[in-house]
Amino acid sequence: YYTKDTTVFQDGKWLKAADAKASLYDQTLHYGTGVFEGIRSYKNENGCNIFKAREHYDRLLYSADKMHLKVPYTTEELVAITYQLLDKNNLRDAYIRPLVYSGPYMGLTPSDEVHVFIAAWEWAKYLGYKPLNVMVSSYQRPNPKSCHVEAKVVGHYTNSVLATTEAKRLGYDEGLLLDMHGHVAEGAGANFFFEKNGILYTPPAGNILPGITRATIMELARDLDIRVVEKHITVDEVYEADNAFFTGTAVEVAPIASLNGVKFTGTWEDSAGYNLYMMYRQKVKFSEYQGLTIV
Ligand code: PMP
Repeated sequence: YYTKDTTVFQDGKWLKAADAKASLYDQTLHYGTGVFEGIRSYKNENGCNIFKAREHYDRLLYSADKMHLKVPYTTEELVAITYQLLDKNNLRDAYIRPLVYSGPYMGLTPSDEVHVFIAAWEWAKYLGYKPLNVMVSSYQRPNPKSCHVEAKVVGHYTNSVLATTEAKRLGYDEGLLLDMHGHVAEGAGANFFFEKNGILYTPPAGNILPGITRATIMELARDLDIRVVEKHITVDEVYEADNAFFTGTAVEVAPIASLNGVKFTGTWEDSAGYNLYMMYRQKVKFSEYQGLTIV
């Protein structure tokens, strides 16, 4: 993630990655109270574009608010800082990881000390294009009555780590997690769609992290006149699907080959998901923040 030359942002300062320090007494380390984002930038003719920068930082501030963490920056400031971070590290195609974490404190109320760390590194493809073999995870997504599942909270990711580890140990690429009612929710770090007779289906907000890629794909589907239905989905319905895919900042649009060994019979290259992916690949490069684009 870093070399001796990498610069990171920590609490208003630009530091070499190895000089950025956190405390072993930080509340986030003990209780998982931090919040974070995963953002990508894409190289283009003007330098690069941080895709949906504002949406990601709005979500970071939303997540922080849900965890009662006071972040001393606005979305606009965080976007500007991130363009500077990319510039200082000479990065164009990058993965950006902002982390808001709480300082030394062992109480079960929010720490007054809130830190902001932002790092970026060159991007290498996460899951790759090879269609994924997915299993229904034995782990459920956290119950929305237990925590704010719609927020991107550090502690929630123990659930994702368990699900992906289980899937890999059993020879699959990824897990598909159900919600507390047994309906399909999402992947460990991505949202889920399936296609049947040209219509896309995806679980509604409520028991998922409502992804920014998911929203983008739904917008693009409207442009292409592809119908998207948000509804509760059973595993049996997914077995009958023509195609299925995950969406997320890291995976973009990742086709799924099979669920629990049941193969999807549609041809991915002819599917709505594939067409949307091609449109997505075009869209990510265009700057939505002209004034901040770096050269
Ligand atoms: N669900 C979970 C649990 C995730 O961690 C992610 C990645 N942030 C997503 C869905 C997809 O969200 P996005 O498209 O905003 O990256």
